Amino acid sequence: MVAETTLAPVPELPEVETVRTELAPAMTGRTFERVEILDGRLVAPDDPRGVAAELEGERVDRVGRRGKYLVISFESGRALLCHLRMTGSFLLEPDDADPYARAVIELDDGRTVVYRDIRRFGTWRLLEPGEIEPYLAVRLGVEPLESRFTAAWLGARMAGRRAPVKAAILDQRTVAGLGNIYADEALWRAGIHPLRPAGNLDAAEVGRLRRTIRAALRHGIARQGATLSDYRRPNGGTGSMQNEFHVYGRLGEPCDRCGTPIAKTRAGGRGSAFCPRCQAAGVDLAYVTPRK
Ligand SMILES: [Zn+2]
Repeated sequence: MVAETTLAPVPELPEVETVRTELAPAMTGRTFERVEILDGRLVAPDDPRGVAAELEGERVDRVGRRGKYLVISFESGRALLCHLRMTGSFLLEPDDADPYARAVIELDDGRTVVYRDIRRFGTWRLLEPGEIEPYLAVRLGVEPLESRFTAAWLGARMAGRRAPVKAAILDQRTVAGLGNIYADEALWRAGIHPLRPAGNLDAAEVGRLRRTIRAALRHGIARQGATLSDYRRPNGGTGSMQNEFHVYGRLGEPCDRCGTPIAKTRAGGRGSAFCPRCQAAGVDLAYVTPRK
């Protein structure tokens, strides 16, 4: 079995959206009065003291999200792009002596927001007004929950590709914000094997996959994300999506649809859970399914 703990699940769209939802009411309209960046790695290669000084005095216009980026937009037109990577989180009621605190923001209403990150892979990047759109445009495709995420878009992104469909939908330029967990869930819902070549899906399958990607992400948002690894919501609460996964983390357990034990393979370098029976259509099982 793959040591999934060493590849800890990262916050994906539903988790980042949950963070945004809780952070927005606390930050919107507030000014960053004092900012301390305790870990230079957070803003590397920029100078942490310089970035902190630039952030002081900025007033928050909006807390948004693009893909897995939290986008804190300021009235000045600048934006702070935060990527939580594996273990980053924002806390509105922080512990005083949190050893994993990497940055502290004091707001003008007296509230303190702490950014904590155990593995230290998270990043903050302060961008000037003209830099924001180009920065995001080269990294991210359309938002899967917006209307522009059509079957035609998804089909065009996968056309002619021999890469496994799982790898194709993990490409942030194809489905912004989708990660390993919700990709596995979406493929199971669609009945599509993770190792099917992306370009071999027919129009009906692409349409189905578009719908199930959206459904899996919406389900995750409704449960306030999945609490795995060190994901914590800004108010200190947890998500509950981990209790409702169909395939992710359920190796050997019976498929919710057909009872077949959930299996695991690797696609695009990532562990991929799937049902060998429900997701068998169109694949050469002798080739893709490990035999017992
Ligand atoms: Zn099944």
